[in-house]
Amino acid sequence: VRARVMQVTKSPEVTYEDIGGLEEQMNEVRETVELPLENPDMFQKVGIEPPSGVLLYGPPGTGKTMLAKAVANQTDATFIKMAGSELVHKFIGEGAKLVRDLFEVARQHEPAVLFIDEIDAIASKRTDSKTSGDAEVQRTMMQLLSEMDGFEDRGEIRIIAATNRFDMLDRAILRPGRFDRLIEVPNPGEEGREQIFRIHTRDMNIADDVDYEQLAVETGDASGADIKAICTEAGMFAIRDDRTEIRMQDFVDAQAKIEQEEEENDEVSK
Ligand code: ATP
Repeated sequence: VRARVMQVTKSPEVTYEDIGGLEEQMNEVRETVELPLENPDMFQKVGIEPPSGVLLYGPPGTGKTMLAKAVANQTDATFIKMAGSELVHKFIGEGAKLVRDLFEVARQHEPAVLFIDEIDAIASKRTDSKTSGDAEVQRTMMQLLSEMDGFEDRGEIRIIAATNRFDMLDRAILRPGRFDRLIEVPNPGEEGREQIFRIHTRDMNIADDVDYEQLAVETGDASGADIKAICTEAGMFAIRDDRTEIRMQDFVDAQAKIEQEEEENDEVSK
C-alpha cells in the first residue's frame, strides 16, 4: 500500500529557477521551510520556534507542488508526497495508520519535506460528522494533528500542505502550532505569465517572431499549467506542419485549441 500512495524522491529535480512569477511566495517558503532546515541553530539561538506547517492555497496548476519540490531540492531533502484523497480510506484505522507511516518514512529520510496535497480531503469542515465515513476521515485528521503536535524537535522535517479549496478547510488545522503559515498561490499576473512562457520554451526551438510579452497579454486567465500545455501544443502545431522551429502563429493556434478544449471540458462537467 505504502509504495502505491506515497511518493518519495531524494532531492527532486525542480529548482527555484523553474518557477515563474511567484517571488513573494518563494521568499516566504524559503523563510519558513528552507531556513529552519538549513540553519536550525539560528532559531534555537534566537529562541523561537519555526512555523510548524505551511499551507499553500490557490487554484489548480499554479505551482504549489513545484514550490514544495524546489525547497526540497535546495535543501537536499527527501521529498515525500501524499494526496489527502489517498489518506481517506474506507476501513477503520487505515487512514490514521497511513499518517503514522508517512511520518515514520519522513523520520527515516531526514532531512525531509513532507508534502500533503489536497489537504481538504481530510480536513474539510463537515456539516454531518456522524456518518461512519466522516468519522474515519476525522480520525485521519486527528492523527495528522497529533503527529504535528507531537514533534519535539522538528528541525529536520518540514510539513507543507496544499489545497484548492481554502474555503472548505476545517479551521482547527490552521491553529498556532499547526498549519500556521498561510501562503496564497494565485494564478500568475501578466509579468508572471511572460516568465512562465520563457521557462517552458527554454529547451524549444523558438523562431524570432515569437513575442513573449504579447503571449502574456493574450493569455489573461491562464495558470502555469495552462501555459505549459500551450507551449507543448505549439510544438505539436509545428510538427504537424513538418517544421522544427516554432512560430508565433503556432502559439496563437495552440492557445485557441487549449481554450476550446477547456470550454468543452466545462460543458461535460456541468
Ligand atoms: P494542483 O493544485 O493541481 O496540484 P499545483 O498548484 O500543485 O496544482 P503544479 O503541480 O506545481 O501545480 O504545476 C503543474 C505544472 O504546471 C508544473 O509541473 C509546471 O510545469 C507548470 N506550472 C505551474 N505553475 C508554474 C509556475 N509558476 N511556473 C512555471 N511552471 C508552472
